[in-house]
Amino acid sequence: MSEDTFLVHGGRNPLLQEGAVNPPVYHASTIIYPDAKALRHGAATPLEGFRYGRFGTPLSFALEEAVAELEGGYKAVSVPSGLAAITATLLSFAEAGDHILVSDSVYFPTRKFCDQTLKNFGVETEYYDPWLGAGIKERIRPNTRLIYVEAPGSLTFEIQDIPAIAKEAKSQNVLVVMDNTWATPLFFKPFSHGVDVSIQAATKYIVGHADAMLGLITAKDEATWLKIKKKVMELGLCAGSEECFLGLRGLRTLGVRLRQHQENALRLAQWLESQPQVLKVLHPALPSCPGHEIWQRDFLGSSGLFGIILKTEDPGTIDKVLNKIKPFSLGYSWGGFESLAIPLDPGICRAASQWEAGGLGIRLHVGLEDLTDLKQALGRGLKELG
Ligand SMILES: *Cc1c(COP(=O)(O)O)cnc(C)c1O
Repeated sequence: MSEDTFLVHGGRNPLLQEGAVNPPVYHASTIIYPDAKALRHGAATPLEGFRYGRFGTPLSFALEEAVAELEGGYKAVSVPSGLAAITATLLSFAEAGDHILVSDSVYFPTRKFCDQTLKNFGVETEYYDPWLGAGIKERIRPNTRLIYVEAPGSLTFEIQDIPAIAKEAKSQNVLVVMDNTWATPLFFKPFSHGVDVSIQAATKYIVGHADAMLGLITAKDEATWLKIKKKVMELGLCAGSEECFLGLRGLRTLGVRLRQHQENALRLAQWLESQPQVLKVLHPALPSCPGHEIWQRDFLGSSGLFGIILKTEDPGTIDKVLNKIKPFSLGYSWGGFESLAIPLDPGICRAASQWEAGGLGIRLHVGLEDLTDLKQALGRGLKELG
């Protein structure tokens, strides 16, 4: 089945639900068993089927199966947010005395969790330059448990050489965990590039309408999946039923939405590159962007999120630009249908690498609005720089 067909039909079976097109939402904690034998059997096999609301419902299983199939992995686990997917994965594998390698370009709340909770639990985090590639080899220690990658980097858009990192990791029995939110399972296939665990902040493109928090963790094989599933059950994490419904609904249009985000963002990025007020455009699909060759080699497309660096050092000017660019709304998160903008903080936290932008910037999420309107809006904003 081709991917677009799978997006429409995966994770549902109308004939098993009285013909209704979409699966029902199970609001459930208790599951009733027909007799004592069945109850004892259910208690002894918590991972087989519908056993207790917190362990998953037929709806969360359907969402997990669909996303695992798209990512190309064995099975997924749904959790209440993208960040919960990240923290639960790290807690599934890193133990006291372990060392983990985390990209210096990582999503900031991931960094915070490593620097606070994991540190308190006796796990040492070492940040590495996102451009390191095969050079990661020298950083791997006997107690290195996992390497955490994210491509492109949150806010700074470095594309990592994941196959090169995964090759070194494999040769020393180290796990590779990836935050694959930017590309979604459609534009990057983590398991064909050596990743062991892939994380989606489904809050972004999978839900796609800025109306739910949801995370998914997909594992490459049964043993890896079991470790994560057991930890998620131990932590008491479970995705909400309505949220799973919205995630599954989002999948139906993920392909068309993403292609439109890609088209609008790429055309805007190309146009911005030619504007005199713009110093740099951080968009991996542009040949001028560092890491473009790796993106071209490994990725199947680009999404709607990218950065621009403007020829100004004055935060007040950035604010003036931000106030002039409606229909871009000002707000955090991304992946929904509308265009969004936030200032790009120049004081970006780095431990192992330099990030010198040469100016102040804006992170844009390009939505599904008309391209001409978006271009005009940014044109108005750029005029603030003269
Ligand atoms: C938003 C985001 C997350 C966290 O997702 P939430 O659902 O907001 O917790 C994780 N990684 C990346 C790259 C993100 O952009």
